[in-house]
Amino acid sequence: MEKAPVIIVGAGLAGSLMAIYLAQKGLAVEVFESRPDMRTTAISAGRSINLALSDRGILPLKEVGILDKVMAEAVKMPGRMLHSVEGQLQFAPYGKDSSQYINSISRGGLNQLLMTEAESYPDVNIHFNQKCIDVDFENSIVTVEDQATQQQTTVQGCTIIGGDGANSVVRNAMEQEIEGYQAHVDWLDHGYKELSIPPMQDAGFALEKNALHIWPRGNYMLIALPNADGSFTCTLFFPYKGNPSFESLDTPEKIQTFFEAQFGDAVPHLVHLQEEFANNPVGKLGTLKCYPWIHNDKAALIGDAAHAIVPFYGQGMNASFEDCRVLNACIETHGVGNWAAAYSAYQDLRKVNGDAIGDLAVENFYEMRDHVADPTFRKKRALEHILENTYDDYHSKYSLVTFQPDVPYAVARNLGNQQDALLMNLCKEVEDIKTLDIPSVYQQLKALKTQV
Ligand SMILES: Cc1cc2nc3c(=O)[nH]c(=O)nc-3n(C[C@H](O)[C@H](O)[C@H](O)COP(=O)(O)OP(=O)(O)OC[C@H]3O[C@@H](n4cnc5c(N)ncnc54)[C@H](O)[C@@H]3O)c2cc1C
Repeated sequence: MEKAPVIIVGAGLAGSLMAIYLAQKGLAVEVFESRPDMRTTAISAGRSINLALSDRGILPLKEVGILDKVMAEAVKMPGRMLHSVEGQLQFAPYGKDSSQYINSISRGGLNQLLMTEAESYPDVNIHFNQKCIDVDFENSIVTVEDQATQQQTTVQGCTIIGGDGANSVVRNAMEQEIEGYQAHVDWLDHGYKELSIPPMQDAGFALEKNALHIWPRGNYMLIALPNADGSFTCTLFFPYKGNPSFESLDTPEKIQTFFEAQFGDAVPHLVHLQEEFANNPVGKLGTLKCYPWIHNDKAALIGDAAHAIVPFYGQGMNASFEDCRVLNACIETHGVGNWAAAYSAYQDLRKVNGDAIGDLAVENFYEMRDHVADPTFRKKRALEHILENTYDDYHSKYSLVTFQPDVPYAVARNLGNQQDALLMNLCKEVEDIKTLDIPSVYQQLKALKTQV
């Protein structure tokens, strides 16, 4: 008799990577994806067109052996390029030097690559246009519906992994099944809209290529990430209501006047501003926290199904890939087939960190929006830069989250927030950070570390 497969619901970023991990263990995997195959059908890759990939996401891609293919199309972003209202530019490095950078990659390109890699294993099948509509945990059966014919089929596996994104059917089924199940989404008062800057006529970049561009404006901001073809994908994070807001910009004239006043240096490059503002949808931004993430040996949630977060640390996908790496390690520790033990260990390791990155991402929204242009914050960043280049074991909060995958998110949050509070206080008190006694600042920071 054939061995029962692992069922994965959703062939998005997390589901496809998890399929590769399991295939490398010799497991049979059946993946059900509600959308058509984006390699053969022109569909939007969903949500943002490009994503920032950093060290926590890089590690699992390296582990499964596909990092080089992913990086072939990546654009390095070693820092933020801040655009003032007057159009002045200031570059702020993310890490201690240009060896530390994040990478802009295409969401669709990455998802397609992951699916192709998963399907290169003979025991992995991805079934497209098959939407999971029901889950029977007792018998490890999912019911899927063909999106073209509405025909329903049931499939039995040995266990079910929910990689079906923020609106997870697997999570909803757990909520029905498990007494005391908790799931809550905190929505921001801001939504997002994507705009684009096309490549120049010579296929060059209209803005500095190697940077994540930010136009921080207090209650709202515009950002732009480069794509390998010379274009930029811009995202406006903006309140739904109030003035200004998506609601208040209700005529082409108001949109034009507002953009020219606030993002003047971007306007000449936003050549489709009016059509895109009118036609592109406003996306919602929320933080999901739920518990438990697992159901005995029957099911586990990975990625956004477990912890959808707001995109301000560029960590949602990175955290999702880290879930796959940790779940794989737990399966290795407890042995293939010992699902209950592996899932329990996975949940113990990941739930606290999923919550932490959810909190960090909301905090970074306020930091990017309000503080990045603030003089004390800039002094703090300059001080951190000196510290990072003087002491190998000092890492800013941003570095802890982005460049230190060995440091769990929860530690990065606690230590990073203490460091930030200490450094902001010091920077408030001095005109010029050169007057600070750097070795003494370092000692104060080291003392914090021991308290975490
Ligand atoms: C505007 C924006 C910008 C972002 N930028 C970044 C960034 O820079 N860096 C970063 O790390 N993260 C970023 N993220 C977060 C990132 O997109 C997510 O964390 C990531 O996509 C999660 O992967 P996933 O596989 O869990 O979910 P998804 O990628 O959403 O995949 C879920 C899959 O499941 C399928 N599915 C859903 N329901 C069913 C069903 N019932 N049956 C079958 N299939 C189903 C969907 O079609 C989809 O293919 C951003 C998010 C947003 C909204």
